[in-house]
Amino acid sequence: MQQTYERRVGYVVSNDLVKVSSLLPSNKNRSLLVHSLVKAFGLLSTDDAGLGVQSLPPSPAEFRELSAYHDRDFLEHVLKEDVSTEDDANEEFGLTEASGLGSLMDCPPFPQMRDYVKYVAGASLTAAKALKEDKVDIAICWDGGRHHAQKAQASGFCYVADCVLAILALKRPQPSPDGGLTRPRVMYLDLDLHFSDGVSHAFHRSAAGSSSPQVLTLSLARLSDPSDAGFDPFTLALPLERGAGRGAFARVWPLVERVRAAFRPDCVVVQCGADGLAGDPYATWNWSIGDGEGSMGWCVDRVCGWGCKVLLLGGGGYRSPNVARAWTYLTSVALGRPLPLDADIPDHGAFPLYAPHKNRDEYLVASKKTSQQ
Ligand SMILES: [Zn+2]
Repeated sequence: MQQTYERRVGYVVSNDLVKVSSLLPSNKNRSLLVHSLVKAFGLLSTDDAGLGVQSLPPSPAEFRELSAYHDRDFLEHVLKEDVSTEDDANEEFGLTEASGLGSLMDCPPFPQMRDYVKYVAGASLTAAKALKEDKVDIAICWDGGRHHAQKAQASGFCYVADCVLAILALKRPQPSPDGGLTRPRVMYLDLDLHFSDGVSHAFHRSAAGSSSPQVLTLSLARLSDPSDAGFDPFTLALPLERGAGRGAFARVWPLVERVRAAFRPDCVVVQCGADGLAGDPYATWNWSIGDGEGSMGWCVDRVCGWGCKVLLLGGGGYRSPNVARAWTYLTSVALGRPLPLDADIPDHGAFPLYAPHKNRDEYLVASKKTSQQ
């Protein structure tokens, strides 16, 4: 691992956020598992010198904040009066595919969807604000990273475009020491198995005609944009083959570094979708969380060492205990104190869910019981 830094790290969490985020139909209870494991490993505590993670409780986003990107009609629809059960949701929302929620297959309405949208957007905006106000160097928001959501439509279980909202907040001009205004450059790096269509489309050609482009998106994905809306040097994708593992990532990483060196971002937003890791039900890539060059932990460690502000977001990942392991490990990497890859899962409420799985793969930290149990 890279040398450790004294980093100011902020971590977005609150009981309300975990409660509503755990209701996401594609990832039920995942949020609960993730935050419980991070806490069980003691990563949210501070040391004797007061160094450690700064807790960032999110405020739910207001309509005005959500409308910085989303269409009014879409927001009025997803924020309409709530329902209590999934059956009620289907009935009372009376949704069709033209209603703004996208396909009912991959964007079903769900109880507390309204609160979910407000809290997940608010979570990523809280992280962006802490970076913008220079309260932290790295901000972590595992409930964010909904990279498929569009301006006027939910898509792929992404009901709100929190990545886009966070980027818009981070790029907002701010006063410079000389009395003028600076326009921060924001690089968005997407490590999810799937192409970041929602985010890439939002900023596609936004730099056209600009002498100082502010946003660059780069998606390392299984496939790039199928709609191919025309080349834009600030909307990039690096498609990787089926079966790609840390060797493939190690080979393309110099390109990521070159993009970074050319663009010179003030802030990097990393979407850390975990569905490309070995053991995920998508079973497409064979990426590992740690153990050397090209692993996901290694890539995130590189970014954390770039010396600019870093926002780490979640994303896909469909075997929740594996995602909890992965994002716990990445939290430790962000802190500059990477956990041993063979660390035992601590005893905590969700412990039984970490029993060895028949598809257990090499990147997983061990899940055997400790001798005290
Ligand atoms: Zn994905």
